[in-house]
Formats: sequence, structure tokens, C-alpha cells
Amino acid sequence: MASARRPDADVIVVGAGSVGLLLSLLLARRGKRVLLLESRTERSPHSRAIGLSSPSIEILDGLGLAEPFIAEGIPVRRARVSDGRRELGLLDFSAVKRRFPFVLALPQSRTEALLEEATMREPLISLRKGETAEALEPEPGALAVLGRSELGAFRLKASFVVAADGTRGELGRDPRLRRRLRPHRARFVMGDFPDDGVYGAEARLFFTPRGSVESFPLPTGLRRWVLSAPPGTEEGAPSGRPDLSWLVEETRLRASIVLAEERCLWASAFTTECSLAPSYGENRFFLAGDAAHTMSPIVGQNMNTGFADAEWLAEALSSADPEASAEGLARAYGRARLRAARAAAGRAWAAMNLGAARGGGFSALRGHLIRMVLGVPALSLAVARIFTMDSIPGATLADLPPRLHPAFGLATAPEKSGAPADRHTASVSPLRPLPEVPALRDPSKITHMPPKEFE
Ligand SMILES: Cc1cc2nc3c(=O)[nH]c(=O)nc-3n(C[C@H](O)[C@H](O)[C@H](O)COP(=O)(O)OP(=O)(O)OC[C@H]3O[C@@H](n4cnc5c(N)ncnc54)[C@H](O)[C@@H]3O)c2cc1C
Repeated sequence: MASARRPDADVIVVGAGSVGLLLSLLLARRGKRVLLLESRTERSPHSRAIGLSSPSIEILDGLGLAEPFIAEGIPVRRARVSDGRRELGLLDFSAVKRRFPFVLALPQSRTEALLEEATMREPLISLRKGETAEALEPEPGALAVLGRSELGAFRLKASFVVAADGTRGELGRDPRLRRRLRPHRARFVMGDFPDDGVYGAEARLFFTPRGSVESFPLPTGLRRWVLSAPPGTEEGAPSGRPDLSWLVEETRLRASIVLAEERCLWASAFTTECSLAPSYGENRFFLAGDAAHTMSPIVGQNMNTGFADAEWLAEALSSADPEASAEGLARAYGRARLRAARAAAGRAWAAMNLGAARGGGFSALRGHLIRMVLGVPALSLAVARIFTMDSIPGATLADLPPRLHPAFGLATAPEKSGAPADRHTASVSPLRPLPEVPALRDPSKITHMPPKEFE
């Protein structure tokens, strides 16, 4: 039932994963009141994404958060590429012309923890854990979210709702917004081991006749090893702990590196997939992050693509007239961000297949090609720009061509599509400074936070 009461917030964000947390911070910094609903009461301990791209660090820097992130992570400035027997070349991320010319190695669990700490300091964000959004109902000039917590059913109202609810999210997914899934045949096994320090802060990429081995430093003295597994083997099972002895033996055979099985601290096997929602929103409802797209984790772009979705959406929702219909806004968002997701997914797919392909003949050809590319500075830089995500179209708002910027998109979208004119304003919102709070509560110990009351 529609209610005439005042909205509970400007924006309701569903899902306090990395993308929902970042989006909430970006909105609050533009003066918007945010209700952030999260069904879980405990954060996921799994690291999943381990790389923050250069553009993502710039987005964090806009929030004043680059420093704490860099202090915790490891800036990876180079990747050494080998065919298992000899070095093929060096990828130099520091040659990329960005403010943070590196990939920051940091487990996703820490990224989420740092973002959550920042939301705790932000008076315009109310993070409500243990609250699951179940349905949407349109109201005049607003959208209501119906849901459930341990305290019972709730109904909350806002001008806009964003589902940052990940791959399993169901909220508002009619067929036009449901991601179209394309499973890959590729399988991978990964394990975290203590880092003996031989490679320092470098990433190592081995593209061998038996498959790929990729290795990245992690904070807290660890290194992650990721191996492509041949299709049809147990090692690549979609879930569960893989056969560690296989991982150790294959690393030795492919890269002549001896890992000690008993020192493995965590291991996992996964198959990859790619999926994309045909549209990123309609009217007052939008998708962001994994809710909108997934791609192979090889090259590490999916969460970072979600960060740029969040930046675009925060700018657009802050500029939009809350009284107006938001159809033009949804179209402009899709135009700008689908382009980025397609580019990222295509690169992830190509890199994954190039690296994982097996066989002596192909491997020799691949080695020759890699040596050639990395030997030419301009080509080597182009590859470094792919890994750092510098060359993704619209990597940040500052990189967007004017026609895809929220301000321009909102002003022109209805005319282009022939739809009735929206009343969006097209200004770029000023950012508020992040409030300083003397004593920060430890968010990992808070299971059910009392909602903040907005004035
Ligand atoms: C093995 C692996 C390795 C990866 N490596 C990388 C990498 O190197 N680089 C990279 O960029 N990405 C990587 N990714 C992808 C990355 O983990 C995801 O892109 C990222 O988690 C997306 O964040 P998100 O906030 O969109 O979704 P999620 O992290 O899934 O968060 C969604 C949140 O929404 C909550 N939620 C869901 N439904 C509701 C509801 N109805 N009501 C309230 N709350 C709800 C969930 O509880 C969850 O907390 C990897 C993924 C995997 C699996």
C-alpha cells in the first residue's frame, strides 16, 4: 500500500558488499541520505578479489581513503612473464600515466572492512545488518522496499533504490534486468602460501605448455598461486577444497617452483562465468556491481568495474531531480556502464584463454608473441594499461567522454531515445569532507546496528 509519508532516505542501497558500501559513501559525500540494507550479520571472510585497479584507487582517493588502503595493501608495480623455462618480458605498471600507477594487492575482505569502517563515520549512512530486501513497490515519485529482519517485516521508502546485491540477488529482477549467463569451460585452482620473499612485490605470470601459473603478493606475508586446470579434472571442481598435492606438483612442473603442501593456508577451486544484464535499471531502480555483470576473475576486473558503476551512479543520483521520472537516467547509466563491462569482460576472457591454453606448439607461438609485444615499449604499455584498467572506457568519471558523463547523459537521454523529457538537472555535485570521529567502533564486532535517525 502506498504511503504519503516522507521518504526514509534519498537512496536505499541493497547489499553491503564492496560495491554497495562504496556507493553509499559516494552518495553520502554528495549530501544524500542513504539506507544500506544487508541481509548478513557477519562479513564474508573470503578474500575473492585481491587487486584494486589504478582507477579504483582514484575513486577511493576522492573519498580520502586511498591512504589507508595503500597503507594496508601491496602496490604491485611490475609483473614478470615467463614460459616456465625462460623470461619472456616485464610488464611495467608504473609506466601507466595515472595518479596511482600500480595494482594494489589487498584481499576483498579487507577492502570491505575498510569501506565499512568509513560508513560508520558517515552520519548520512544508516547501515542496517540482518535486513533482507524482498520486494519493490512503486509509489508516487518514490520506490518502497519491502523486507524482513529478525524484528519482523519492514517497509522503507526512497527516491531511488540500487540493488548491489551480488550474483544471487533477486530483488526487482524482471527478465529485462536479469543477467544473461555465459559459463566458460575454464577452471582454476588457487592457494595461499607463506611468501618466502623471493619475488618481492612483483606479480609472476607463467604461461607454459601445461597451462598457466599466476602468482601475486598479498599483505600479511602471503602469496597467492592460481593455476589453470585442464577441463574435466577434479582439481577444477566448481567448489570445495582442491587436491593440494595436484596444485603443488603442477606448480613444480610448470614453473619449477616448489611449494610446501603443508604450509598452504587456504585453497579453492572455481570455474569462471561471464554474465551481463541487458539493462542496468528502469525508472527508479538500478543495478550495480555483480548484480549487473560478472566476468572471469583472471585480470581482476569485476569488482573494479563495480566501483566505477558506483561512481557513475552516485554522481547521477545526486544530480537527478527526485520528483522526476528516472527513465532517462536508467538509459544513460546503461549506455555508459554496459560499454565498460563489455570491454572488461572481453579482456578477461581473452587473457584467460591466452594464458590457460595448453600444448607445446601453441605455447611456443604464444611465447614468441609475448616476447615481441613486451619488447616494444608502446605495445608493452598498452598491455600494462589493460592490467591496471587504465584503458577501460570510462574507467572513472574523469575519463568519460562528455557524452557519457552523468551530467550530459541525463540532459540528453530522453531526446535521443524519443522518450518524454525528464527533469534532471545536470550539475556535478560537490563532495563533502569525510567526518572525523574520534573513537571508531570496530565494525566486525557489530552484528545488528541500530539504525541512524535522519533529521
Ligand atoms: C574466486 C574469485 C576471485 C575474484 N577475484 C577478483 C579480482 O581479482 N578482482 C576483481 O575485481 N574481482 C574479483 N572477483 C569478483 C568480486 O569478488 C566481485 O566482483 C565482488 O564481490 C562484487 O561485489 P558486490 O558488492 O557487487 O557483490 P557482493 O560482494 O556479492 O555483495 C552483495 C551483498 O548483498 C547482500 N545481499 C544480497 N541479497 C540481499 C537482499 N535481498 N537484501 C539485503 N542484502 C542482500 C549479500 O549478503 C552481500 O553482502 C572475484 C570473485 C571470485 C569468486
